[in-house]
Amino acid sequence: MKKHNFSAGPCILAPTVLEKAAAAVKNFDNLDLSLLEISHRSKSFVAVMDRATDLALELLGLQDKGYKALFLQGGASLEFLMVAYNLLEKKAAYLNTGTWSDKAIKEAKLFGEVVEVGSSKAANFNYIPKDYTVPDDVDYFHCTSNNTIFGTQMKSFPEVSVPLICDMSSDIFSRVLDFSKFDLIYAGAQKNMGPAGTTLVVVKEAILGKVSRQIPSMLDYRIHISKESMFNTPAVFPVYVSMLTLEWLKEHGGVAAIEKLNTEKAQLIYNEIDRNALFTGFVANKEDRSAMNATFNLVDDAHKENFDVLWNKAGISGLNGHRSVGGYRASMYNALPLESVQVLVKAMQELEKNA
Ligand SMILES: *Cc1c(COP(=O)(O)O)cnc(C)c1O
Repeated sequence: MKKHNFSAGPCILAPTVLEKAAAAVKNFDNLDLSLLEISHRSKSFVAVMDRATDLALELLGLQDKGYKALFLQGGASLEFLMVAYNLLEKKAAYLNTGTWSDKAIKEAKLFGEVVEVGSSKAANFNYIPKDYTVPDDVDYFHCTSNNTIFGTQMKSFPEVSVPLICDMSSDIFSRVLDFSKFDLIYAGAQKNMGPAGTTLVVVKEAILGKVSRQIPSMLDYRIHISKESMFNTPAVFPVYVSMLTLEWLKEHGGVAAIEKLNTEKAQLIYNEIDRNALFTGFVANKEDRSAMNATFNLVDDAHKENFDVLWNKAGISGLNGHRSVGGYRASMYNALPLESVQVLVKAMQELEKNA
């Protein structure tokens, strides 16, 4: 039987997506050829790219609003510098809410001045700073919607007069937001959309073309837009699997429907963390808790051996916390069924009974 996969990323994908992806590796689109051995410029693959970008915009409610969707390579990590390369002329504002924001800041500093408007670094990123103002004289404001490692999530976004840029790698398509507030959203596929190897970038075209520096072609959003994500060979398989996941999401009612399920899963685990005296949540303020990654610890490490046996026996995989936080992290991306969280909660309750 398949494990209950709580992996933080690369992460669980829907069973039907995996089946269709496996079939396409053998025979894609009745071509009697593998998806992996055809030209990315073939009619069949161009249709995949078109459908994937259309679905991304549709599911975010961004069709016909001046946005373009791209499937690029280099991971979300390349976007840390691509954003700055394309948009940072003099000064940019960043909110530092975790390891990934911190890395984005580091890259941006290569291109200009960075104003860190808020940071929870001194508290090992266990909360989302809220008392900050974004200056009007910056080229853009960058934030990270969900902090995968620490289990915090921004529940609201500031009203800003400058372009709003967001790394949504680990909660894209997981909840309803007014996505039109954002000017550029990026997300590595492997957290909530597909396998590693491609990054979704959704960008409002009007913000581009304003920096004075020369931009190498591979790093220029405008080139990728004009070539419809085919400036060079795209990550054919990851784009295809992302398309399948977006189709799956649409069939299941889209972002609003999955948000309901995600909320239910999050409530279940957090209720147990709060109720069960053996466990404690990592995040300081309950309102900052992530619906995607629940981070928690044992109050007494003496129970670790027993708990690890219990969840392993229950068929759970990928529960260990990131090394910078320790403890446990239950990543509950879109494709994780409610049942998996129920199994985890049961293991936590069993530990309590045996203690
Ligand atoms: C995983 C992750 C990244 C890094 O993604 P790569 O695709 O490995 O570069 C960046 N930001 C967030 C929020 C992430 O969760």
